[in-house]
Amino acid sequence: MHCLAAQHSALEQIQARVGTFWSRSPLNHLANDTDERAWDEPLFGVAAGNDPLFAKIKADIGPFYWLPEEAFALAFPQAPATADELSVLVWILPQTAATRADQKLATDFPAERWARSRDFGEKFNLALRRHLAETLTAAGHPSVAPELLPQFSRQTSERFGIASNWSERHTAHIAGLGTFGLSDGLITARGKAVRIGSLITRQRLPATPRTYTGHTDWCLWYAQGICGVCMRRCPVRTITPSGHDKNACFRYIRDVTTPYVQKTFGTDFTPCGLCQVDIPCEDRNPVVRRKSG
Ligand code: SF4
Ligand code: SF4
Repeated sequence: MHCLAAQHSALEQIQARVGTFWSRSPLNHLANDTDERAWDEPLFGVAAGNDPLFAKIKADIGPFYWLPEEAFALAFPQAPATADELSVLVWILPQTAATRADQKLATDFPAERWARSRDFGEKFNLALRRHLAETLTAAGHPSVAPELLPQFSRQTSERFGIASNWSERHTAHIAGLGTFGLSDGLITARGKAVRIGSLITRQRLPATPRTYTGHTDWCLWYAQGICGVCMRRCPVRTITPSGHDKNACFRYIRDVTTPYVQKTFGTDFTPCGLCQVDIPCEDRNPVVRRKSG
């Protein structure tokens, strides 16, 4: 009991640290004339390092996919940890109403605010990963953000095609933060117009309960056989009743939207996200809304 209270207290402190960084970091902005924040207030979840879903996802994606203890050992080869000793922190950064409103008007190319969130907003997300890893490690809990490891890369999964060796979306799903939609995006309590960050830390923290049983429970298409609006939002129709064609999506982003934002807004990275707005799951879990409405 005492131990559990200490874990809850440690988690509250970490959440407060994330909240302070979100509210005070000068990096949480879109670097535009209005000086507005890049992200709304984060959601937060925790997965136990030994959650069996990690091994299930590795079995599905392929042997190159990291378990928490495997990613941790790459960062701390002299002091590896067992899965039981680890927790995985996950945060969701929701797009602001202004960014979503702009993106709703876009049909073929991402809006400027969206492009800026992909560039400057993700720089904030990178800084948050580093900040948490450094402060928790300095406090005696060695921590690593897998996306910051030099070995983090894209590989090819026999079953799923292009796949990274650490998926923050899948990790957020394990940490109770949402389920997948027809377009592959994660539908969270703040919808699908979000970005995600994660960190593995050597300490036991209370895991966030999953309020779903299936990995697509919050998508209207899979849960109730209706909707499919995201299919119409994709300008190159890479979302179909059979799911999301990752390769075609990747090609559109690489060949069309990335050069477009570089030339038009001077921003970097790989934005699109047209299928993340103007849809019932844009900023909420649509299954909950339908039940309560
Ligand atoms: S828009 Fe509809 S079908 Fe597409 S992911 Fe959201 S709920 Fe599912
Ligand atoms: S991110 Fe991919 S699936 Fe979504 S709208 Fe763009 S090209 Fe289509």
